Amino acid sequence: MQPLIDLYLEGHTVERCGFIFRDGSIVEIDNVHSEPERGFRMDPKQILEHVDNPDLVGTWHTHPGGDPNLSQEDYAGFLSWPHLEHHIVGELRGTPTVESFVIDNGLVLKK
Ligand SMILES: [Zn+2]
Repeated sequence: MQPLIDLYLEGHTVERCGFIFRDGSIVEIDNVHSEPERGFRMDPKQILEHVDNPDLVGTWHTHPGGDPNLSQEDYAGFLSWPHLEHHIVGELRGTPTVESFVIDNGLVLKK
């Protein structure tokens, strides 16, 4: 998850988001949320470029200056991608931290 930590440490104030592939590579997708400091919404056009890729295994997004826990919006959003793992990068006691979540029986669980 070091690429996600590095990206977090660039210190943006808006949430950043994207996909993760089987080989560990990441791609960033534009955040088109109406309040990108508070949430993320991946650009639908860019989603289409990746969504059929069989090597797509996860999503990621950042919580600038916040903890890596799920927001209500995250919870709802993750449920619409039940076959993927979801990673949130935030800070715990000042240390950049990645938390990972999976969907199991319609529930979002911390991995
Ligand atoms: Zn979030």
